Amino acid sequence: MRVKIKAIMKLFGTSGIRGIANKDLIQLALKIGLAVGKTYGNVVVGGDTRTSSPAMKHALISGLLAAGARGYDAGVIPTPTLALAAREFDAGAMITASHNPPEYNGIKLLNPDGAAFGSPQRRQIETAISNNSFDVASWDEIKSSSVYYQAIEKHIEQILSDFPGGFKLKVVVDCGCGAASVITPHLLRKLGCSVVALNCHPSGFFPHPIEPTESNLGDLMKATREFGADLGIAHDGDADRLMAVDDKGNFIPGDKLLVLFTQALEAKEIVTTIDASMAIDKMGFTVIRTRVGDTYVSEELKRGGDFGGEPSGSWIFPNISLCPDGIYAAARLVAIASRQKLSQLVNSLPSYPLLRGSISSNGIIISKLEPQLKTMEPLSVSNVDGIKLSFKDGWLLVRASGTEPKIRLTVEAKSEAKAHQLYDSGIKAIKECRG
Ligand code: MG
Repeated sequence: MRVKIKAIMKLFGTSGIRGIANKDLIQLALKIGLAVGKTYGNVVVGGDTRTSSPAMKHALISGLLAAGARGYDAGVIPTPTLALAAREFDAGAMITASHNPPEYNGIKLLNPDGAAFGSPQRRQIETAISNNSFDVASWDEIKSSSVYYQAIEKHIEQILSDFPGGFKLKVVVDCGCGAASVITPHLLRKLGCSVVALNCHPSGFFPHPIEPTESNLGDLMKATREFGADLGIAHDGDADRLMAVDDKGNFIPGDKLLVLFTQALEAKEIVTTIDASMAIDKMGFTVIRTRVGDTYVSEELKRGGDFGGEPSGSWIFPNISLCPDGIYAAARLVAIASRQKLSQLVNSLPSYPLLRGSISSNGIIISKLEPQLKTMEPLSVSNVDGIKLSFKDGWLLVRASGTEPKIRLTVEAKSEAKAHQLYDSGIKAIKECRG
């Protein structure tokens, strides 16, 4: 048992805990409830649409109650909806595995400001679980659980207070049968849109992989074209992410959405990840770069910045919450599309060739590659996440894969030829080091 728990502990990363929803994960949910309930007296708990989410949620609430805390069941809701609800509590716990396949589940712990639990908070929970040090309240101190009904309504109200509505647009929404099903179509109708709902029954049986990438959104692109819609929107399983297609049915890359949101918000200082396109630097904004992962963007926004995002589809509006909010992003994108056709807007933005690939690491660690990569004579080197080399007309990023024994290589340049040249040089440098 000890070995199994240790194996699971490694999953308690910046995105919370993830794993196949088996006996170990359900037991872990109970232990996390016990550990969280030790420190946080009032905790709101929500879940995505996965079939294992109710079992996980009740296990976690059982732990909270046994520890003497109060647990509030907010039902099936997206993560950003739970993040807003957490304002009224000491903490929030979201049962979700985000964009992972349907047999997975997980737990993400949130603070009242919407930010994920930071490193010291996570270590505290991990230590309690590793040491099996749980206090169960005495019989006369155990609280009862309650239902918290208002989360979806309050999230919609919050968004409607920022947008006047009256948007006479046709929008195709693909919720992938995930948590957005319970909110995005309703919100868009309240904003005045005519909504074509694809996969908006919250069953937890995802009709396509739930990560909103171009290759997973073929039906959305086709429907947007065939219905003559103004735009199409897709979320991941817990709707903290949003990606979109334009009025021609073309997928809009996340780097383009990053610029569109930044412009619409009239943001002066924005936070994004080290792998985002250099297009954002060409627009005249002050850009702060973090490690890859929305948690790092959220952390940085605590220190300042008007808007944060990463090209994989996480958009953070710090005046609302420090949690990425795919639902708020949907309203913002509709407002943008109501002023000008998205295809025209996207085409007006700078575009640079980008290449992504990976190569077996053969056990070499990233820092060992730096001297060899520097022979490419970059203008500057950044170690924010992996090694990023900047050149006059492009950049190259080398990072270790978080899940496989591979080195990931990303390259962007002003021309196709330069992008391929940088990519080939990067691969050659890695091979020479790796042997
Ligand atoms: Mg997610």
